[in-house]
Amino acid sequence: MILIDGKKIAAELREELKQEVSELKTKYNKVPGLTVILVGDMAPSQIYVRNKEKSANEVGLKSEVIKYPDTVEEKTILEKIEELNNDESISGILVQLPLPKHIDKQKVIETIIPSKDVDGFHPMNVGNLSSGYESSVPCTPLGCYLMIKKIEPNLSGKKAVVVGRSNLNGKPMTQLLLKENCTVTITHSRTKDLKAECLEADIIVAAVGIPELVKGDWVKKDAIVIDVGINKTENGLVGDVAFDEVSKNAKALTPVPGGVGPMTIACLLKNTIDCFKRAQI
Ligand code: NAD
Repeated sequence: MILIDGKKIAAELREELKQEVSELKTKYNKVPGLTVILVGDMAPSQIYVRNKEKSANEVGLKSEVIKYPDTVEEKTILEKIEELNNDESISGILVQLPLPKHIDKQKVIETIIPSKDVDGFHPMNVGNLSSGYESSVPCTPLGCYLMIKKIEPNLSGKKAVVVGRSNLNGKPMTQLLLKENCTVTITHSRTKDLKAECLEADIIVAAVGIPELVKGDWVKKDAIVIDVGINKTENGLVGDVAFDEVSKNAKALTPVPGGVGPMTIACLLKNTIDCFKRAQI
């Protein structure tokens, strides 16, 4: 079984991106800029944002975090986004989710100009992705896709099962696999026989949030299994896939932690650089 080492693949990607930033700096005499807006002081968000900033600096991006208290008015956030939309030195804008209840998340997402939407959440980018056009792609599914391609470069005709239909993970993952000519089944909480669906799959991507939902006898021999789930349990952090059982059948499997997580941040940097490059044309 191949253990898909997300940490290592992400480190390689960051190295490539660092090289690319250096070349862009020589060519354009400027580097891509990423601004992250952080509202409130929720611990997980603080950690994510700190890691994003650290990785951005590591590859040579211009990086900035703008912090607001959780009492900030929605209007203040929207005005700041407008200002960043018009700032030529900023290539990518990310508003860390979740936001406090009094702030309309969708309004915030739609205020970010699509060409700087490094999370790929703007409806324009969602539409472009599903139409097969160039767009920013949500970072987590993009990271999953890059790892799958490392194991199997030619996905044409493969049967893929995506477990979970969130806008963040399941739906964009489905689009990426479709673009690669996979036959994709998207499953969710109302799916009648999830085990039977999974047993058909050459590729399984689990993004659910239920500890060890995908069992060993749900997985065909030689399947590639990507575990997006991050679940805190009494036994520590576990994914949506029963790792020990599934590792006996699968051809390749991501661990939790150390699989999808590190790729998510590396893909944010990639998206920022891609936004910069599209803006230079
Ligand atoms: P979500 O809650 O938005 O969506 C969960 C999906 O799972 C829903 O579509 C739901 O229909 C489906 N589902 C629920 N119960 C099910 C069942 N019994 N069988 C089949 N499908 C079922 O979750 P999300 O935001 O997509 O996140 C999913 C998991 O991925 C969470 O554990 C989250 O922490 C993790 N996550 C990890 C990263 C990362 O970087 N590794 C990033 C984002 C989310």
